[in-house]
Amino acid sequence: MKLIFRYDDFAFEHSEENNAVRERLFNVFLSLDMPIVVAVVPNISAEVRNRYNTIFFPIENDVQSVSLLNRGLENGFQLALHGLTHQTHRDRSATEYANLPFESQLQSIRKGMNHLSRVFPNAPLEVFIPPWNSFDDSTVDAVGKTGLRIVCGGENIEAYSKNGVLVVPGWALKGFINYLRYYSLDDFACLLGGSSIVIMMHSYDFVKTASRYTLSLDEFGAVLGEIRTKNIEVGILPVDVQPTGFIPTQECLLRARLDLLRRQSMHIGTTFVGAAHIIKRTVGQAIADKALDRVAFGLQKLKAIRNHLR
Ligand SMILES: [Zn+2]
Repeated sequence: MKLIFRYDDFAFEHSEENNAVRERLFNVFLSLDMPIVVAVVPNISAEVRNRYNTIFFPIENDVQSVSLLNRGLENGFQLALHGLTHQTHRDRSATEYANLPFESQLQSIRKGMNHLSRVFPNAPLEVFIPPWNSFDDSTVDAVGKTGLRIVCGGENIEAYSKNGVLVVPGWALKGFINYLRYYSLDDFACLLGGSSIVIMMHSYDFVKTASRYTLSLDEFGAVLGEIRTKNIEVGILPVDVQPTGFIPTQECLLRARLDLLRRQSMHIGTTFVGAAHIIKRTVGQAIADKALDRVAFGLQKLKAIRNHLR
């Protein structure tokens, strides 16, 4: 298994709290000599969800951000373009690219690339990460035209390659951590076998919120420590080869399990996972996991049928 960690929304930062979290997170990776793929917004919008906003903050005006990222890039981090402004172009929808004409997408991506290359002239730029993981076929074509090699999206896409551009999914950190909390890193590695997986991180993953899921940097640091102890490879996105994908049945199982763990926040999931914990104590892990997988697959089938009826 190869893990690729991706940090999104690196941009001009106003919040002291986010600044501190970001710096601590980068330091944890640096201290373990592990790289991060950093998705950078060159000219972040003051209001990303307001398409009429006209105030933007260029990354070079934030000296602290630039020097932090430079330190990472000098130590093997990978630079990625995360849109130009991260501002949506539609009301009540979050996308900077999807549904725009090819030419506008191309122009925006080119502008972003030039901007990043000006500020980080020594870092190779080969990866495009669309804001909100939202993109369409024209985005992939535009990316190909600019010479970038990879589009990294979200959980709901399949890996493929088109005109020399690799399109790879990214998975939310929350799911990965939930997985490790219920199952284990060994179990995750066993499920993935020889494949690679991209895991997306945001600073909000490490900021305490009202939601039930919280992850402290200490806990995450311990996870990374375990990854190191077990000699699991942590790398960046490979440019010339499609990262080894999942075996379909493994991917199916991973999706089903993540879906079930996601439901923990809902009553139905809590009941099943809670019951599984009890079964685990009485009949053992293997039987409990098998039962839980049956439930997970059942729920996925139900979801598919519901979507079909819609
Ligand atoms: Zn983003």
